[in-house]
Amino acid sequence: MGRHEAEERFPWLTNVPWRAIAAQFPVRLPRGYLGDAREASDPRLRTALPDPAELEPHAGDVPDPVGEQARSPIPWVVQKHADRVLLLLTKRCHVYCRYCFRRDHDPGSSSSEDPTPEEWAAMFAFARASGAREAILSGGDPLAVSDARLLNAIDALRPEVPVIRIHTRAPITFPQRITPHLVSSLRARAPVWVIVHANHPVELSAPVRESLARLVDAGLPVLNQAVLLRGVNDHPDILAELCETLVSLRVFPYYLHHPDAAPGNAAFRVSLDEGRAIHEALRQRLSGIALPTYVIDPPDGSGKRAILPELV
Ligand code: SF4
Repeated sequence: MGRHEAEERFPWLTNVPWRAIAAQFPVRLPRGYLGDAREASDPRLRTALPDPAELEPHAGDVPDPVGEQARSPIPWVVQKHADRVLLLLTKRCHVYCRYCFRRDHDPGSSSSEDPTPEEWAAMFAFARASGAREAILSGGDPLAVSDARLLNAIDALRPEVPVIRIHTRAPITFPQRITPHLVSSLRARAPVWVIVHANHPVELSAPVRESLARLVDAGLPVLNQAVLLRGVNDHPDILAELCETLVSLRVFPYYLHHPDAAPGNAAFRVSLDEGRAIHEALRQRLSGIALPTYVIDPPDGSGKRAILPELV
């Protein structure tokens, strides 16, 4: 959906400095993902539409909020743990989520949207020699690249890196990307784990459910990561419905992320105390297979760790 169409459908966008915001972080609005959303408070619109608040600096902003720059040995690669290596296949996404920590962050300081052929070869050579057992294909969205490029990436990692994880929001934001060809190609390369990213039950539309079923039916393990976001899902009722629905769709609600303090996303942040209270409410009502682990990825680059309840 272009800017003109978006302004007609969402009139409050008319006065938004779209160009200035998009210069900092692109805006992309797939009609299918937005569905029938009309109200500014709709979670899909809250997380996808540009907002003037993104241009305002905030005292809590952290330029490299999950500490990737010091852990990036070469462009497009991050390694925080000896057994895992993170490979950023692209900076492109089907939707640019306004809360994303990668909005202002550039591991390895590469300025283009995709690795050059030399960078691509170097990142896989690094991963093969890294000693990692798991490669996390991320981005951007790793499913924003073609099937051929994605499968080339997986094949370039084997046999040295046996386990592949694809961290993608495409099954939620662009479910038609999950084609029979893609699914059968991933199945043929097992073990491949797919970690999706839904934040609110309204995102689990019929096409999204079908895309998740295609993955699960093929025997691919599917997990979900949600981000705790003010004004989107910061209530136990919303998250409980999300997690219970995911379980019914055979998707494990793996992580609930504390929001990262990236410049431009202050409107989405909740405090640790608020997050703990919400997670404790979830703990009291959800089964073990429906309860996500509440985690934080701190700016010191040490990697994710669980946020535990305060002992009283
Ligand atoms: S799809 Fe993922 S990487 Fe892309 S903007 Fe959204 S959260 Fe960030």
